[in-house]
Amino acid sequence: MFFSKDSSLCRPHLERQEFCKKANCAVRHFRRLIYYLDSATNTLDICMYFLTSSILVKTIINAYKRGVVVRIVLDESMTQNDGSQIMSFHKEGIKPKFKQLDVLMHHKFIIIDNNILITGSTNWTMAAFFGNFENLMVTNESRLVKPFINEFEKIWAMVNATVNVMETDSKTHILT
Ligand SMILES: [Zn+2]
Repeated sequence: MFFSKDSSLCRPHLERQEFCKKANCAVRHFRRLIYYLDSATNTLDICMYFLTSSILVKTIINAYKRGVVVRIVLDESMTQNDGSQIMSFHKEGIKPKFKQLDVLMHHKFIIIDNNILITGSTNWTMAAFFGNFENLMVTNESRLVKPFINEFEKIWAMVNATVNVMETDSKTHILT
C-alpha cells in the first residue's frame, strides 16, 4: 500500500462510503488496516514510534475488549508530545510500554495473531496516512513474519527490564 501527497484529497471521504477512483486511495488502505486489526483473535503485538490516530486506538481497544492480548511498545517521546491516546489505553486497562534508552524506538510494525505482519514507513497518525509519502506492507509469509516476532519478543523483554530497574530505583529513592 502506498500513500502520497494526494492522500490528503481522500481524507474528506473517510467518514462516508464513496467510490474513489484513485488506485492508491488512502481511505481504502486505512480501512484495510482496520480490517486486519479487526480480524485479530489472539494477539496484537505493536511496536510503533508514534500512535496518535484515535480511530486506530479505538480499533485496538475493541480487540482488547473481545479478549485479544494486546502488547504495545512506543517511543518515550510520545509521552511528551501526545499523551491523550495513552490515557485512552490506560482507561481501558492497556498499558503501553515505553522504550527508555538514549536512542529512538523508531519501528513501525505490528504482528497479528503471530501470523500477519504489517510494516512500513507510516507512523499511526492521521498526518502520515493522509498527507505523507509512505508505504505499508502486509504479509503472512512466515520467513518474513518470524524475525519480526523474535524482534518484538526481544524488545518486549528489554522494555520490561527497563521498567523494573526504574521501579527499583524509585523505591531506593523513597527509602533514602
Ligand atoms: Zn479515496
